[in-house]
Amino acid sequence: MAQRLEGKAVADAIGEQLKIDVAALKAKGVTPTLGIIRVGAKGPDLSYEKGATKRCEEVGAAVKVYELPEDVTQDKLIATIKSANDDKGVHGILLFRPLPKHIDDNAACGAILPAKDMDGITDGSQAGIYSDSGKGFPPCTADSVMHILDHYKIDPSGKKVVVLGRSTVIGKPVSMLLLKRNGTVTICHSKTANLPEVVKAADIVVVAMGRALSVGKDSFKAGQYVIDVGVNPNPVPKPAVEDKSWKSTVGDVKFDEVEPIVAGLSPVPGGVGSVTNAILVAHVVEAAKRANA
Ligand code: NAP
Repeated sequence: MAQRLEGKAVADAIGEQLKIDVAALKAKGVTPTLGIIRVGAKGPDLSYEKGATKRCEEVGAAVKVYELPEDVTQDKLIATIKSANDDKGVHGILLFRPLPKHIDDNAACGAILPAKDMDGITDGSQAGIYSDSGKGFPPCTADSVMHILDHYKIDPSGKKVVVLGRSTVIGKPVSMLLLKRNGTVTICHSKTANLPEVVKAADIVVVAMGRALSVGKDSFKAGQYVIDVGVNPNPVPKPAVEDKSWKSTVGDVKFDEVEPIVAGLSPVPGGVGSVTNAILVAHVVEAAKRANA
């Protein structure tokens, strides 16, 4: 039976280190501060904001929320982003998306300074990942995958790594991060032929397709480590008779049939998604360190 690569243990370990790092910054008069820019008051944004604020407070970091109305003009939003860029007391910026339709997403993201871009959404941050310049930050989810591997001592160096998905949020950046760590990386997508065969040849598999329960036992073999990034509504309806094993959210991997085969597998929920807030705060603390080096 596979080792469960639980996210909570990873997030807790990151949190303990962040407490030490934040205390050291505070001793120098610096309180790492995340600026959250929120347009409107959508439920998912409010719950993300609540989780991020809790994580920041747990380690002694601060949060400043820039709350704008749903009908804010693009100019006003960009002016707000620029004021957060210019504020030396704000070390990192998180812009909640999707933005309302009347706002140009590229223009808004492009206004964030890469040095303050906590979720790798600017071209500057993405260039930093590909050029290895150390500028900006990778997307929190991609970085979470790397921290899960590190925490469970799964070293990608010299290993065959297969990444399912090539989005700019997960597939591409995580592939670059794995390549940087000397993995031999194959990136798969919807046109990849013989996918089960390709996946079976890997030592480490990162699954980020957004296709609920779509990868099953025919794709895996003994000894593999699998990180399931997918977060999808369960296509299996809630049973009429209570079944405690039923979850409203599922990953891309058929957990129950793959768990008996592989060496390690991250659960959904409770895997990658449990680490992303801790990584967000880690990025804020790192940005504060860089700004005060
Ligand atoms: P996305 O932009 O829709 O990209 C999906 C990728 O999967 C695309 O590259 C697509 O290929 C590929 N794909 C789709 N069907 C495939 C198939 N049958 N075989 C092989 N490849 C296939 O999705 P995303 O934003 O990267 O998100 C992926 C998943 O991660 C989603 O479930 C999302 O909810 C989840 N997510 C989780 C977290 C977290 O914190 N855990 C954070 C963000 C996102 P093409 O390029 O050819 O279309």
